[in-house]
Amino acid sequence: MDDAKRPQQLRLAVIFLGPPGAGKGTQAKKLAAKCGVPHLSTGDMFREHVMQDTELGRLAKPIMHAGGLVPDELVLGMVADRLKRQDCERGFVFDGFPRTLPQADQLGKILAEHGFGKPIVIHFVVDRDEILRRLTGRRMCRDCGAIYHQYSNPPRVPGICDNDGSTLYQRVDDSEEVIGPRLDAFFKQTEPLVKYYRDQGVLADIEAAGEVETVARSVRAAVAAAKSKAQ
Ligand code: ADP
Ligand code: AMP
Repeated sequence: MDDAKRPQQLRLAVIFLGPPGAGKGTQAKKLAAKCGVPHLSTGDMFREHVMQDTELGRLAKPIMHAGGLVPDELVLGMVADRLKRQDCERGFVFDGFPRTLPQADQLGKILAEHGFGKPIVIHFVVDRDEILRRLTGRRMCRDCGAIYHQYSNPPRVPGICDNDGSTLYQRVDDSEEVIGPRLDAFFKQTEPLVKYYRDQGVLADIEAAGEVETVARSVRAAVAAAKSKAQ
């Protein structure tokens, strides 16, 4: 493989922070693939628990379907377990975690224990109308986790995943009734993390309203700038 195609070897803790529907998952998959590190979406992990009908899934399901946040201790236990896996040694891209100040404090301790420096926090800035458009049009593949949008990122065949031919589905919490509570939870419990990380000097704002490739370039530039600042 030539150097340009080789995944960059990083030891980086990256956090994608922003409202639901901002495009974090879409961009986290791209950055994680480019850097050769795992994409850690706590939302995906909980959906997997719900699908497998585990004890954690049974606790999380009604909260997720109502648009609330799962209690910190359950989230933190799940994340701590995941970080013990070997694929996290060189770094990871968190998407949807942390979402509360206690989660952020605890993550800081976990990162220090694992020998990581300060995280690089990418803050996705996008207006409410675009969030609503993105959430109501989102379609997902249950098998491979690919993320589509009915209009802005449709699959080649309507309703069918390009990667594996599975039927796409709409998340229960992407219904109009649940989007309101999810946005309320974001503004009350998660948005304070913007100041928390800005005060630590580790947060970069990116304009997330552009096209997927434009946003991806902004993300890569912000990560590169943060890396060179840290060196
Ligand atoms: P989040 O993980 O922040 O909830 P997603 O990555 O799942 O957001 O994206 C939400 C929806 O918006 C999906 O349907 C996705 O295809 C679409 N989307 C993501 N980024 C963009 C973009 N830059 N422009 C248009 N649509 C986008
Ligand atoms: P997401 O896929 O990131 O939109 O997350 C879907 C749902 O999972 C959220 O609405 C919450 O109910 C739950 N969830 C995911 N991550 C967290 C977290 N870090 N803290 C609390 N709840 C979470």
